[in-house]
Amino acid sequence: MQCPNCKKCETQVIDSRLSDENTVRRRRECSCCRFRFTTFERIEPARAVVIKKDGREEPFAKEKIEDGIRRAAKNTQVTEADVTCIASEVEQEVFQSGEDKITSREIGNLIIQKLKDIDEVAYLRFASVYKEFSDIETFEKEISKLR
Ligand SMILES: [Zn+2]
Repeated sequence: MQCPNCKKCETQVIDSRLSDENTVRRRRECSCCRFRFTTFERIEPARAVVIKKDGREEPFAKEKIEDGIRRAAKNTQVTEADVTCIASEVEQEVFQSGEDKITSREIGNLIIQKLKDIDEVAYLRFASVYKEFSDIETFEKEISKLR
């Protein structure tokens, strides 16, 4: 970081510590004019919101993806390592997209594509469960209309 005082030199970090769990406080010194100042660096937690079919939002949770895949992968050649791997890939794709919102449909499609390459049974099972979920949601919507 350039010195804000003389604007000639790079500054050196002479002290660095967490001021709270998401903020790093750094003490810096200019190597030319010896000007000292403090910066605060905020760690932005990776975070995404999943929009469900009924429009409700919930925080992205890798564990939920793993659970869904695990259920579909029961008694197939899909291993626990595959489950973790697919969920990590989906998580990465979600966060790398730079979007902070993703629909549950998009997540489902990502998982379906990956399962397709690994195991046909798990793939079909996931796809059908996934469709069933959307039917349940439609069903719930109809019931709530009656209330
Ligand atoms: Zn300076």
